[in-house]
Amino acid sequence: MRRPLRVMKFGGTSVGDAECIERAAKIVAAASGQGAVVVVVSAMSGVTNRLIEAAHRSQEGRQEEVAKLTDLLRIQHETALRTLIRDETRRAQVSGAMEQVIAETARLLQGTALLRELTPRARDAISSAGERLATPLVAGALCEAGLRSVAIDATELIVTDDHHGSAAPLLEQTHERAEARLRPLLADGIVPVATGFIGATTDGTLTTLGRGGSDYSATILGAALGADETIIWTDVDGVMTADPRLVPEARTLPEISYNEAAELAYFGAKVLHPKTLRPVTQAGVPVWIRNSFAPEKPGTKITPRGRPAGGGVKALTAIRDVALITVGGPGIVGVPDVVAKTFSTTARMRANVLLISQSSSQNDICFIIPLADAERTVAALRQAFASDLADQQVEHITVDPNIAIVAVVGENMRGTPGIAGRTFSTLGREGVNIIAIAQGSSEYNISFVVDVSAMQRAVAAVHKEFRLDERDLREENEAATYAEVGDGRRDDENRR
Ligand code: ADP
Ligand code: ASP
Ligand code: MG
Repeated sequence: MRRPLRVMKFGGTSVGDAECIERAAKIVAAASGQGAVVVVVSAMSGVTNRLIEAAHRSQEGRQEEVAKLTDLLRIQHETALRTLIRDETRRAQVSGAMEQVIAETARLLQGTALLRELTPRARDAISSAGERLATPLVAGALCEAGLRSVAIDATELIVTDDHHGSAAPLLEQTHERAEARLRPLLADGIVPVATGFIGATTDGTLTTLGRGGSDYSATILGAALGADETIIWTDVDGVMTADPRLVPEARTLPEISYNEAAELAYFGAKVLHPKTLRPVTQAGVPVWIRNSFAPEKPGTKITPRGRPAGGGVKALTAIRDVALITVGGPGIVGVPDVVAKTFSTTARMRANVLLISQSSSQNDICFIIPLADAERTVAALRQAFASDLADQQVEHITVDPNIAIVAVVGENMRGTPGIAGRTFSTLGREGVNIIAIAQGSSEYNISFVVDVSAMQRAVAAVHKEFRLDERDLREENEAATYAEVGDGRRDDENRR
């Protein structure tokens, strides 16, 4: 009988210190008793932020930051190493591999400080160090737990385009590379531990897939290898009805659909990178979100169809750090192709448009993009409309950074009347002012824009209105069968 293949990704908190890495190693050891496992790891928590911060300080010419950062990285990783690995030879090997990454990162930061220029390519190389430090540590811990394991740089596996900072994978070439590099190891019973978050162009230049991109790395590799499932181990029990930091009563959903998970991720549910489901959608293989701190819990299974929820609404999400840009007013009225001109500009700026709303006249459009893209996008829009606005006294392109998008998500909302009505009357009762509304024709979500100060109140009120905080016992009793990993339970799905 064919042994199942699983890709298991461990996020930053799940490899946050020696104790966490030991817990992760136990999960991998249990799983590799039942099938082949490819491990994908993120940087230890906090490391990527620190690296990016140091890159920016170096760009300002602050050389002293380099030594500060390398000391911190060394302490954090060497401390974990000392606890995790007792075998002296192995410890020296892992320490040597880590030291190489630290030295390379220091050189990149020094170069940046000298030139006072941080190119997208250097920024990617610097921010990749966290994953490149974590893999030898985790592979070493797996060896210590009695497995055979090797650390692999995903630059050898994931081929991408050259869009630094949010590179797109080239799936055919990735399939070839991953097969050639990983299949022989798997056949030998070795557990490969690959870096999440990174890839390389065809000519070998390192790229990153975007912040939080290790989830995406896991499904890219899962799809490339035709894995039976991908398991994303994190620090919550699964995908929840809302961000537990916003709504403490949020509960874990046993099963959701690809569409629902994608909508939640797109509108800010940090538990999944927005592109995570793309590689697996066509093959229809399940993705699990599970808690590495509580592996006995089943987690959330993400499947093509999901599981219908009674009231149609499955979950809510909210996204801040976005800006509302309005193009309109008398200066714009009568300008032909306002819409085309506006969105060709956002496309040129590669600004991700999260929501669009248009008033009845063709000439007043508002849309939302990430705050980080707002300044340069507004400047580009002002330039694009410069001749139209030349003789106008008033501002016609405005930007409001103090807003948030809240999205109400559920596949079964389609065909369930009254959801918009209930949502908006709840917000009315709460005194939350709605700035803009959008609903896609797919009807998987209704999203609305509120002042950022009202975001939490809006999410909590709508969560309560749709009774998402009440445990649905029927749903839980029917909970999907789940992978037997770390808790000794059977996985019926995998005995196909
Ligand atoms: P990792 O480091 O494992 O990738 P992340 O911090 O990126 O973990 O994502 C997990 C976090 O996502 C959780 O701790 C939780 O605070 C947040 N989160 C936001 N929305 C949701 C949601 N709907 N369900 C579960 N977690 C959510
Ligand atoms: N370490 C990367 C980040 O912090 C990738 C990830 O955690 O998924 O963005
Ligand atoms: Mg994450």
